[in-house]
Amino acid sequence: MSYKPPLRDEIALRPGYHSPQFDVEVALNTNESPFLPPEQWTSELLSALSKVRYNRYPDRKATELRRCIAEYHEVEAEEVFCANGSNEVIEILLLAIGGPSRKALVFEPTYALHSHICRLTSTEVVSGHRDESFRIDPEQARKLNELHDPVVTFICSPNNPTGQLESVDVVTGILGQTEGLVLVDEAYGEFASPVSSALTLRSTKGADYDDSLSRLAVVRTFSKVWSMAAFRLGYLIGSPQLISACERAALPYHLSTPTQTAGIVAMRYRSEMEDRVKQMTQERDRLRAELERLKVQTWPSEANFILFRPGDRSGREVWQKLVDSSVLIRDCSDWPGLEGCLRVTVGTSEENDRFLDALEECL
Ligand code: PMP
Repeated sequence: MSYKPPLRDEIALRPGYHSPQFDVEVALNTNESPFLPPEQWTSELLSALSKVRYNRYPDRKATELRRCIAEYHEVEAEEVFCANGSNEVIEILLLAIGGPSRKALVFEPTYALHSHICRLTSTEVVSGHRDESFRIDPEQARKLNELHDPVVTFICSPNNPTGQLESVDVVTGILGQTEGLVLVDEAYGEFASPVSSALTLRSTKGADYDDSLSRLAVVRTFSKVWSMAAFRLGYLIGSPQLISACERAALPYHLSTPTQTAGIVAMRYRSEMEDRVKQMTQERDRLRAELERLKVQTWPSEANFILFRPGDRSGREVWQKLVDSSVLIRDCSDWPGLEGCLRVTVGTSEENDRFLDALEECL
């Protein structure tokens, strides 16, 4: 009989954690950028990679990458921690401060990996619920923070999969309700206005933070606006004490030299990144207007995806019909609080048209 690994209970995946990967013509299911990075980024990177001393371990502290990210956000390099994607950043953070007999607070419906990573690290998940417009209710947050005293409260902003941004006031309000860390996941932060980022609270270089601001951390990623999902690079901005806690929990040399180099080179292409963001947000607004024309229910989005509910038709049925037309989007229709809903990533205008045509046909 073949070996059956004795899985820990926490490892059993619930549906919805992984987006199915099918070979389709139009993939609008994982919120990646539809654009490649600039050609010049690719050639500059290849040239930098040809000079790497591959026999040596990478810079364990990712010194130059952290310096570039710090400069971009006007913080100190000691306030930056990098890992292989923001999911890994969150996992390392929870290895450092989560664990048995500690709790994390999330507000559902939200990014499923937050609670999944909590379970992987044996951190108990406490779930609050968003209101009808998918916003966090500060009063409910206060009660849950008082009752459970979580080590970390997650705020996903813009929230995946619903698209709404939480205001800086909500973030500061929650900081005042808890003695734990407030982790704002801004994987889609660049799609929203910079003044609405929780980073505005941290970005005074060299400032002395009061106690509550030292408990604020923000996560960002190179997987979306930077068009670098294949590389796996994400980062956290937080207090130097939090960063050294993450460094203790990370495995030695966890971030390869090619990955560090890719991030350093990317930072030289900020204006190209901003141009792509502009294109994607314009397309997002066109896509939402077209969805409304098709009389499907939509929600406002500050990210590169739109949540919608296709009226009388079952979400699952519409999703399957789209797959049959070689268009893959995300089926959220059986997620609690999102009954019947689907989420479409903003693609190129041609991809969006393919999606809209296929949707119109099946409606
Ligand atoms: N946070 C949110 C809210 C996300 O939607 C995603 C990607 N789906 C991530 C984090 C993970 O991104 P990365 O590729 O950096 O691990």
